[in-house]
Amino acid sequence: MAVLTCPYSLTKIPAVTVVTRSYDLVCPSCGKPLEISRISRNIAAIFGLIAGAAVWFVATDASGSHHALGWVFPVVYAILAYGIVAPVVLMLTADLSLKSEPHAAEIHAHAEPASGGHTSGHH
Ligand SMILES: [Zn+2]
Repeated sequence: MAVLTCPYSLTKIPAVTVVTRSYDLVCPSCGKPLEISRISRNIAAIFGLIAGAAVWFVATDASGSHHALGWVFPVVYAILAYGIVAPVVLMLTADLSLKSEPHAAEIHAHAEPASGGHTSGHH
């Protein structure tokens, strides 16, 4: 059901791995660094927030305000709802892409031609 595949080697990546290591994800087959596309993360966050807000609303309504700590439970439920819904949505919608490697720019910077003033000193 999940659509989590490495775009490079087309290896299926377990949804649990994607959700738990979403900031530090490496393909188990080809070792390429992967990342979840920004839009998938945003979708997951939005659904999580909607679920959290809905749960908070229902829980607030149900618990009323007749005891001093009544406001705590809706907040806790809302956080739990976010914590459950956001990863599930992420699992279902996550679109993996290859991470742009930071090394590429670094190598390029060092590859300047070595024509400094040093080598032409013998004339
Ligand atoms: Zn791969």
